[in-house]
Amino acid sequence: MAVTLDPQLLEILACPSPDHAPLTPGTQDDPAADALTCTSCGRTYPVRDGIPVLLLDEATPPTDGERDSRDEPSSDGA
Ligand SMILES: [Zn+2]
Repeated sequence: MAVTLDPQLLEILACPSPDHAPLTPGTQDDPAADALTCTSCGRTYPVRDGIPVLLLDEATPPTDGERDSRDEPSSDGA
């Protein structure tokens, strides 16, 4: 199911990272995903029960190989 968010709400929502860029429904790979993707940094934020979780801790970093493939995938260790 695609995210069905009020367009006005989407205009208000912004990426919590310093870019504060607008968000677009879905992900780069799946426009129908329950998620919001930042149009600037490419982070993907989950939408739970119709509520966007705009937390950097919850964000999924953009997949490499799309735009800037220079970034080495950072190790997910502690
Ligand atoms: Zn962003």
